[in-house]
Amino acid sequence: MIIIMESNSTQEQIENVIEKIKKLGFRPHLSQGEEKTIIGVIGDERKINESLFKTLPGVENVIPILKPYKLVSREFKKESTIVKVDGVLIGNGHRVIIAGPCSVENEEQIIASAEIARRYGAHLLRGGAYKPRTSPYTFQGLGEEGLKLLQKAKMFTGLPIVTEVMEASEVELVAEYADVLQIGARNMQNFRLLKAVGKINKPVLLKRGLSATLQEFLMSAEYILSEGNYNVILCERGIRTFVDYTRNTLDLNIIPAVKKLSHLPIIVDPSHGTGRRDFIIPLSLVSLAAIAAGADGLMIEMHPDPNKSISDAEQTISPEQFRLLMERIHSLEVLINSWS
Ligand code: PEP
Ligand code: MN
Repeated sequence: MIIIMESNSTQEQIENVIEKIKKLGFRPHLSQGEEKTIIGVIGDERKINESLFKTLPGVENVIPILKPYKLVSREFKKESTIVKVDGVLIGNGHRVIIAGPCSVENEEQIIASAEIARRYGAHLLRGGAYKPRTSPYTFQGLGEEGLKLLQKAKMFTGLPIVTEVMEASEVELVAEYADVLQIGARNMQNFRLLKAVGKINKPVLLKRGLSATLQEFLMSAEYILSEGNYNVILCERGIRTFVDYTRNTLDLNIIPAVKKLSHLPIIVDPSHGTGRRDFIIPLSLVSLAAIAAGADGLMIEMHPDPNKSISDAEQTISPEQFRLLMERIHSLEVLINSWS
């Protein structure tokens, strides 16, 4: 059960609710976000009902939720969430294209990427400064220098920045430069990191873990919301299956499932989902399929000279391929908009 306090509720009223929860033998979970104060009631919910709290002073609403994820659920919030990034809207019909190289490599590369991304209509620039790599011997990212280069690219193009954070201790630093903090697939269940990004007031892009179920994915998002940060964008990036002709299996079925169970926006990353640039026509059709399936956007790896890409070259598309993809996306959007 979740108790939502009125926005002008007093500290005394909040404490009063907490006292009552404890007296009933339950554990309170307080989350005082910038927008709302929410008190979770933890324990066997079958033994209580809403009426016990509904009339207490300062209480706006009480929502009984039996699912393990609560704040991310549609039961908690019926309207689809729209995440705002520097004037760019994501969710509830607002689609976003995020593009850029896998890693920030040098100034020339990231500025060229940003200019190409902007020229062909991307809304956000993405590049990794901290890279989670399978091998410790491969390029691990430029770190803070990479963040500074991203900031420069933003200065030139105005495109807001999406970049990954790998450590709870680096959240503050990355948040100084980034407009959206990405949590990579391998960190989807790094609960300390999730809590840390839950405490900042910048949007978070949460990628699905390689073997995460829908429930595990939503529970990870719940960690972020339960700390008070409601600006979470989910990202399907393919899961590990027995399929070995593509890097991962892109699970487009998850899009309508997420939309049914949660109010959060979900985008798709077909680059990691397929892992193959030589599937460029299929890749672009897969991208279009994701949009047709209801995705709130795409995240695409694109490099000015993909063969020279230090990481993920096999799946990174060229500026020309990106231009073509954007053209097709626009045609599809015209079609989709004509349906509604
Ligand atoms: C990436 O976005 O470059 C990346 C490493 O993705 P993932 O965490 O999905 O593997
Ligand atoms: Mn990558």
